[in-house]
Amino acid sequence: MQYFSLNTNVKQLRIGRGVSKGIGKELGKYVVATMEIPWNIIKNDMGKSPEKVINVTSVEKQWIEDQIKELPEFDTIVGIGGGMAIDVAKYISWKLNKKLVSIPTILSVDAFTTPAAGVRVNHDVEYLGIASPNPLIIDYDLLRSAPKELNIAGVGDLFSIHTASFDWQYANSRGKSEYPYSQNAIDNGKKILDFIYDNIGNIKENNDNGLRSIVEAYISLNTICLPIDHFRIEEGSEHYLFYELEERLKRPFIHGNIIGLGIYLLSRLQKNDPLFITEMMDESGLIYHPNSMNIKREDLRESLLSLKNYVKSKDKLWFTVIDDSMIDEEWINENLSDLKFK
Ligand SMILES: [Zn+2]
Repeated sequence: MQYFSLNTNVKQLRIGRGVSKGIGKELGKYVVATMEIPWNIIKNDMGKSPEKVINVTSVEKQWIEDQIKELPEFDTIVGIGGGMAIDVAKYISWKLNKKLVSIPTILSVDAFTTPAAGVRVNHDVEYLGIASPNPLIIDYDLLRSAPKELNIAGVGDLFSIHTASFDWQYANSRGKSEYPYSQNAIDNGKKILDFIYDNIGNIKENNDNGLRSIVEAYISLNTICLPIDHFRIEEGSEHYLFYELEERLKRPFIHGNIIGLGIYLLSRLQKNDPLFITEMMDESGLIYHPNSMNIKREDLRESLLSLKNYVKSKDKLWFTVIDDSMIDEEWINENLSDLKFK
């Protein structure tokens, strides 16, 4: 498969075992956006200390702006951690026009390869700015210092191609696509899914090939989505259930896992080969059952019953299968029966 082209936003990819060691020595004055656990793992191997460490506890835009006011003079922002830390680093890089270095310590979300920072404005997701990591550092040893499931979660934003592409095709068939339809983009997305299916054993094991395949798949996804300026082949109704749940429960989730739950349910609503994609999620080791995320049956029921009104109330959300859906108690009873709750 083709993974590096001029259409990806990753300017340089450094990938291998131990490749993050001593990175601080290559940088001038730098600031780190991270969280406690990843920072404790990497801080003694940076080679040189940062000017400041931002302990990321939120991706609310106002929270990030408040952090910016406290920053010393610096020229590089280094994002170290999962999606939230990387998104904060991307936002700061864009807002202050500073060099960005991204060091994901888990692969649970595609944030480290996408140009825009996914921040929240009054709890609604907004994608802001453009930031390109230079370099993006994928250190297999570092990734493997995290629990396996956090890296496996990375397939959530790839398996979502299954449901999101369906949504785009559906919207197009109803004359409701917000963008010019591209069969080519859909077909290339399908190739990424096939590539992931072929690597599923490696992904489950967290071996070098498995970790690399997730990263390469993300970069390939960018080569499709950046030129057309939207991620509709990868983001659809499965993400919208997550947005509803996030707003309802007001707490963060491991992105790939909650997207997995969305794929499980929305592929059923779409009648889009749900057994096949469920089998793939199971084989990869992706954790998506509600009990693992402390989601109660009642919360999920309420969320599903509200979903259609929720998406219709949000102008920015694209047309998907949800817009024409009739999710009722009967559908919920039938489709929640095989999911695990506490
Ligand atoms: Zn996502």
